[in-house]
Amino acid sequence: MACVNYPYDAPVSQSLYDRAAVVTPGGVNSPVRAFGAVGGTPRFMVSGTGPYLTDADGREYVDLVCSWGPMILGHAHPAVTEAVRAAVSRGTSFGTPGQGEVELAEEIVARVAPVDQVRLVSSGTEATMSAIRLARGFTGRSKVVKFAGCYHGHVDALLAAAGSGVATFGLPDTPGVTGAQAGETLVLPYNDLDSVAAAFAAHPGEIACVITEASPGNMGVVPPREGFNAGLKRLCEADGALYVSDEVMTGFRVSKAGWYGLDGVVPDLMTFGKVMGGGFPAAAFGGRADVMARLAPAGPVYQAGTLSGNPVATAAGLAQLRLLDDAAYERLDAVSAELRSLVTEALAKEGVTHRLQRAGSMFSVFFTGDDDEDVVDYAAAGRQETFRYTAFFHEMLSRGVYLPPSAFEAWFVSTALDERAVERIADALPHAARAAARAGGDGWADEKGEARA
Ligand code: PLP
Repeated sequence: MACVNYPYDAPVSQSLYDRAAVVTPGGVNSPVRAFGAVGGTPRFMVSGTGPYLTDADGREYVDLVCSWGPMILGHAHPAVTEAVRAAVSRGTSFGTPGQGEVELAEEIVARVAPVDQVRLVSSGTEATMSAIRLARGFTGRSKVVKFAGCYHGHVDALLAAAGSGVATFGLPDTPGVTGAQAGETLVLPYNDLDSVAAAFAAHPGEIACVITEASPGNMGVVPPREGFNAGLKRLCEADGALYVSDEVMTGFRVSKAGWYGLDGVVPDLMTFGKVMGGGFPAAAFGGRADVMARLAPAGPVYQAGTLSGNPVATAAGLAQLRLLDDAAYERLDAVSAELRSLVTEALAKEGVTHRLQRAGSMFSVFFTGDDDEDVVDYAAAGRQETFRYTAFFHEMLSRGVYLPPSAFEAWFVSTALDERAVERIADALPHAARAAARAGGDGWADEKGEARA
């Protein structure tokens, strides 16, 4: 859906986007940044301070994407910036062990009880890919269970998404992933323990692990039903499979110990990223000592990385984590609650049926036809009226609020959201709610009643 005539276009961003499209596929280095789902010109950001981003056209936005999670303290937090500056001045990469890695690993182990040991990597994708390899190496089994709508990075075996039925092997969801790579992946509906039990019954002793987002945020926010994660753990344990909890998004965001800190279900392996890197490429996987002991050089399962445990990234991550105390999480919860009630109020006032779902301080809005029914899985998330989100998104953007450019993403808050930032969101919401109410399947009308497509 193009909206090149949208009145709030951004000429400098557009010209950068045009240049980018010549030298970079689709003009972006990660697909969702391209505004493909909502249309219009992706904003090229030039700076960030506290809760604000400034784009190349000089417009300021309250940021509710936070770099897709990492910027939990807002942008350019002085303590993180200072830690980075100090680290850079000591040299940027040594290819040797360093003190920062030890301290970051100790911080993670201290926060998340099920993690006895942790291995640092550079992206969430690497973390989940390595965790799956380790699970297979540890169990000597090959099959992996994942859930439709859960995203674990662009790992070949985990891009299989749309299996239907309990015993259906996932089909590769993208060209370039072979049937062999995806063929050991079972894709099941989220929040459906019966289908997991049936998968174990159909493949006894063959499943290496079940990997799940601790609380999914990649199909919009769809929290696990009461007892779902505990049920996964129980079924894994009974069959000798590992329970792998992907906390790349929720880790250190929804509580000091991530989703584990809220539901207390003990995984065998966990993956982390985003917040723990303080805005730099740092991620990790960790868990049970006996499982981690299988990892090279302690054990035979190979895994490595030139920039793993990079001193600048670990300094940034450590500085950020050290600021994330109980008070910080209280602040995140409070500002999230305030925003959620503002969103609901604005939409209700315009009679827009919707479902606002949350996991800790993460939340998202589904423009569903029924506001009484929980969105429990990918199929239900797919039934939302995304054209309403498109209208809502653009109205917020035009009023200086940067939301995720897709209805299938979580909104992220930061501790930096102050009164002025919240006020701007509150001022924009009634307009966005009106735009959502007016939107039709073939486009939407802006505040002036002009049709947009
Ligand atoms: N796992 C989850 C739950 C994620 O949300 C993401 C990224 O959004 C990843 C893994 C992949 O992380 P990265 O983008 O750092 O590779």
